Amino acid sequence: MELRARVPDGPIEQKWDKHRFEMKLVNPANKRKYTIIVVGTGLAGGSGAATLAELGYNVKCFCFQDSPRRAHSIAAQGGINAAKNYQNDGDSVYRLFYDTVKGGDFRSREANVYRLAQLSVNIIDQCVAQGVPFAREYGGLLANRSFGGAQVSRTFYARGQTGQQLLLGAYQALERQIGNGMVTMYPRTEMLDLVVIDGVARGIVTRNLITGAIESHVADAVVLGTGGYGNVFYLSTNAKGSNATAIWRAYKRGAAFANPCFTQIHPTCIPKSGEYQSKLTLMSESLRNDGRVWVPLAKGDTRSPDTIPESERDYYLERMYPSFGNLAPRDIASRAAKRVCDEGRGVGPGGLGVYLDFAAAIARLGVEAIRERYGNLFQMYERITDENPYRVPMRIYPAVHYTMGGLWVDYNLMSTIPGLHVIGEANFSDHGANRLGASALMQGLADGYFIISNTIADYLASRKFGPVDATHPAFREAEARVANRTKQFLSIKGSRTVDSFHRELGSIMWEYCGMSRNEAGLRKALQLIPKLREEFWRDVNVPGSADTLNQALEKAGRVADFFELAELMCLDALERRESCGGHFREEYQTPDGEALRDDEHFAYVAAWEYAGEGKPPILNKEPLEFEYVHLAQRSYK
Ligand SMILES: Cc1cc2nc3c(=O)[nH]c(=O)nc-3n(C[C@H](O)[C@H](O)[C@H](O)COP(=O)(O)OP(=O)(O)OC[C@H]3O[C@@H](n4cnc5c(N)ncnc54)[C@H](O)[C@@H]3O)c2cc1C
Repeated sequence: MELRARVPDGPIEQKWDKHRFEMKLVNPANKRKYTIIVVGTGLAGGSGAATLAELGYNVKCFCFQDSPRRAHSIAAQGGINAAKNYQNDGDSVYRLFYDTVKGGDFRSREANVYRLAQLSVNIIDQCVAQGVPFAREYGGLLANRSFGGAQVSRTFYARGQTGQQLLLGAYQALERQIGNGMVTMYPRTEMLDLVVIDGVARGIVTRNLITGAIESHVADAVVLGTGGYGNVFYLSTNAKGSNATAIWRAYKRGAAFANPCFTQIHPTCIPKSGEYQSKLTLMSESLRNDGRVWVPLAKGDTRSPDTIPESERDYYLERMYPSFGNLAPRDIASRAAKRVCDEGRGVGPGGLGVYLDFAAAIARLGVEAIRERYGNLFQMYERITDENPYRVPMRIYPAVHYTMGGLWVDYNLMSTIPGLHVIGEANFSDHGANRLGASALMQGLADGYFIISNTIADYLASRKFGPVDATHPAFREAEARVANRTKQFLSIKGSRTVDSFHRELGSIMWEYCGMSRNEAGLRKALQLIPKLREEFWRDVNVPGSADTLNQALEKAGRVADFFELAELMCLDALERRESCGGHFREEYQTPDGEALRDDEHFAYVAAWEYAGEGKPPILNKEPLEFEYVHLAQRSYK
């Protein structure tokens, strides 16, 4: 497999401009002759579909929810980064670029990250023009707060509902185009296969989740904005429906899967409270602007937090990382929490928790100021834990949150299958081995509003499309495959629920491929997963039928794909014999327990190629070069 990143030459500041000039265009009158499929209506897919339709392309848009506005992006809380420098605190496009490359522990492509930082400023203008109600200062200017891994305040926000407000903006733009007849919307429709004809992506096969109808959709290009795969761990902060099926099926049709093991564990989530639990809840990183993280100095101290004097508390992030303090990046803050809990200083049931304390901020700013900033998050915390965080510190613990891995894409966001483009969390993205807070929304919207609309034109204008329709044998073959798989799930009639298998897979992944990994554990996981997968295909029980709404059937397909992806994640984690960002291999750490990279051997993107059923996948490498941000040990001290 050839990995051509197609990064334009020239100085980094000029690459995107130059590239846009050099790419081919599609004449406005010709755009309506093309049909583009967009799978996904989150911030990436929704903004992408709306923009492509606004330009004049025919768009067919798909999501598995009942409405495009229920995509998981709606859950995003804390904010979106942009290098506007409204605070006049030293920010710039270059600084956002620098922070992102460093934050990702030097495992991202410089040119993509620079373009992302450049486009960040356009995103805010676009969203404000749509009416997104960002928080404002008293004088009317947009307000900013800080997020991890940055020493400037560049995060734009709408209380703790930034994703919801941004998605409403993208959704309105999408609805306008649905109203104009430029977008045909297919809600409650799940993409279950990608169709590749003559080496290029020409459509998808879907299943209607209400009627069970299996249908083919033909197009000139396909865009996947299908989100992340954190739910492979069963417990995560992602929406329950988020899954890997679309990108996994594309992988099996020839799209390379990049850095699958790069998972982000978020440091501030509500700790797990029992085995029955099916979901974890994020407490936004924005809370670390005012909340102070601590544990008791002494092991096994079970006193209530208000009775532990200051001198007997360890504000460990402030102690270990004085320059970034509580706003150390997520991978670092998560590992630090794990470390203090492993030392026996964790709080709450099972000792798997640390405090996030607002007492000092409330004393300094008053309770109303805190309520105004974080009111909805505090309310959510209280509803779940029955504890009032205005009075007692929150208890938090790291949880799976985001996947930096995804389908490999070139500078044009095209995968290794020509015509298949991938945007948002579904691609391997610009975040390297660790994403900085508030940068996923920025990337999804940069991809959807500003990049794909330009680069897809170059693809369309560069080739001739032979006539293809849904009677083509490739569509027939994919339809038959989807139908057979559906039948197979229903025919097993075993004794275990899909969820019980998913839960067990998740605990293997968390144990051996979670916050820290080692060779022996990964090898063990690589034995356990295939065994469990074999049991799944033998003993799963999927009740009901294929021709009505059947959520067990939907889940069975997704969990079957998670099994295969989980194996690839462990293999990738095993092969990457270094620590970087969220990928922490216990064998490779500095004397003070920080991630120890090996740039000589691992400064590459690992792009895995499907080699066929039962054959080991092939590892391809895209070397990473750092011309502008020089490779250095990451330090937040
Ligand atoms: C609780 C939480 C809070 C967060 N807060 C922030 C924040 O404050 N700032 C920030 O920058 N990031 C945040 N993130 C991360 C961010 O929300 C996500 O990375 C981002 O929203 C992903 O957007 P997306 O468009 O790529 O995918 P999604 O929003 O997940 O959308 C995926 C879409 O694809 C569709 N889809 C998927 N598979 C199929 C299929 N097979 N067939 C048909 N349709 C399919 C779905 O229906 C959906 O429409 C947060 C994440 C979580 C979990």
